Amino acid sequence: MGNHETNGSEHQIDDAPTPMTVLGDDKPDAALLESGRMLFAQSCDFVISVARIEQLPPPGLPEIAFAGRSNVGKSSLINALTGRKTLARTSNTPGRTQQINFFDLGCRLMLVDLPGFGYARAPRKEVAEWTRLIHLYLKGRVDLRRLCLLIDSRHGLKENDLAVMRELDKAAVVYQLALTKVDKIKTAQLEKTILAVTQKLKEHPAAMPAIHVTSAAKGRGIETMRAELAQLATAEPLG
Ligand code: GDP
Repeated sequence: MGNHETNGSEHQIDDAPTPMTVLGDDKPDAALLESGRMLFAQSCDFVISVARIEQLPPPGLPEIAFAGRSNVGKSSLINALTGRKTLARTSNTPGRTQQINFFDLGCRLMLVDLPGFGYARAPRKEVAEWTRLIHLYLKGRVDLRRLCLLIDSRHGLKENDLAVMRELDKAAVVYQLALTKVDKIKTAQLEKTILAVTQKLKEHPAAMPAIHVTSAAKGRGIETMRAELAQLATAEPLG
């Protein structure tokens, strides 16, 4: 076990029932939950921060990438999954992080924190750089098992989310949507958003049909997401 700094959120799981079949409410079986818990209790170590494609670490571990619009709650979700407060840098300055950050989880899975997109005030050159870097990463990464595309549950799918989804369809990257910050909205609004999003997913061939429903703040959906991702990790630590 690593030097595990817990944020305590995993003990506050909000099990508010939602009458829809979505991950986060429909819990996987106990064995899967346990393997997720075990994996994410391992040490999670920062590997490298990459601003240019030439700097990508050599392939090895299966990779899970996290992407989303700036301020979607990506850092908070990664921190909640890994039980750390400051692994991924949370920020109130959207667009500040323009680098791809790699984290090694127990030598079994690489977590890849992609820079936020859709930050209108980012200088145009920076946006072009972002698009180019992500494009190259998505196309060339043989170990990329899944991309988690985070969607702020208050806003639903925006045009630039859809643009990213089309890009992922083209690159044939398997991706799954995760709604974030669901503690901020009422159940009725959440249900409406889930319905709209799952409906839209049918038009996207590389998207997984089930979506995650999460709140990093309340711990909702975190155990389930850990269990899902653990199924993509290597059975034994590599290296
Ligand atoms: P990032 O830019 O996508 O990495 O987003 P952050 O993780 O930095 O979060 C952006 C803002 O949303 C911060 O003020 C967080 O505290 C807040 N936030 C993130 N996740 C949640 C959540 O699950 N619930 C609530 N209420 N706020 C959240």
